Amino acid sequence: MSARTVTKIVKAQPTSDGAGVRLFRTIGSPALDSVDPFLLLDEFKSEQSNDYLAGFPDHPHRGFETVTYMLAGSMQHKDHQGNEGNLVAGSVQWMTAGRGIIHSEMPKQDNGLMWGFQLWVNLPAAEKMTAPRYQDIPPENVPEIITADGVKIRIVAGKVGHVGGAVRGIVTDPLYLDVHVPRDISYALPVQNGHTALCYVFVGQGQFGATDTEPGQQVVAQQLALLSDGEELTVKTENDSVRFLLLAGKPLREPVARYGPFVMNTREEIMKAFEDYQGGSFLH
Ligand code: FE
Repeated sequence: MSARTVTKIVKAQPTSDGAGVRLFRTIGSPALDSVDPFLLLDEFKSEQSNDYLAGFPDHPHRGFETVTYMLAGSMQHKDHQGNEGNLVAGSVQWMTAGRGIIHSEMPKQDNGLMWGFQLWVNLPAAEKMTAPRYQDIPPENVPEIITADGVKIRIVAGKVGHVGGAVRGIVTDPLYLDVHVPRDISYALPVQNGHTALCYVFVGQGQFGATDTEPGQQVVAQQLALLSDGEELTVKTENDSVRFLLLAGKPLREPVARYGPFVMNTREEIMKAFEDYQGGSFLH
């Protein structure tokens, strides 16, 4: 099996978004514009309520998908069509915004740890104006496997061996795994050849992309590692365990025109998105 190696490491940049939520951005930052088909990756993590209480009041999206995966805390989601849901620790929401969603994402807690991720996944031209769709998955419906070595994998999307993930029917055929590798082991994960793949470490550290001859590269918490093409990824740990997201997906190889909450193929389509939003046609 050909090994995937680390081609670049990007450190998360502290930033804020929404009405002032503090977060750490890797994809979608000046250091890393996008990694086809992924457009943005944020980690939000704070025990200071001032960092998150303002939340993300009403805002639109068009032309892509937003994925929220919670590790701790609770967020209330509401959209203009009356869809409503509570995102609790361990749950995932895969929202296909398609032709247009106006929604809010607000903390449902006054204090304590709020921790999770938001990923933006692009849609191909043919799907950008599709009808909005939600997959809201409670924690108990996210399949989890534990190997003999104690590696724990929560399968948000994609497949590990014969176990399929919670989220289905996504056009970029994504793999979204939350992987915990205990200390002092080496573990290899298959990743679809030809798909873009990356790891985002959020606890501990490990050696990523080891081959038969090379030890791989050290990646620590709040760093993202881009991976070369290949069929599997090996992660080795020593004194520390590591927990990371493994994300992969089919690259779209289409032009990207992006402005704030709209991601289309051309500038004209972005202007149209603004017109439609301001004219109220997102509401129908
Ligand atoms: Fe949003």
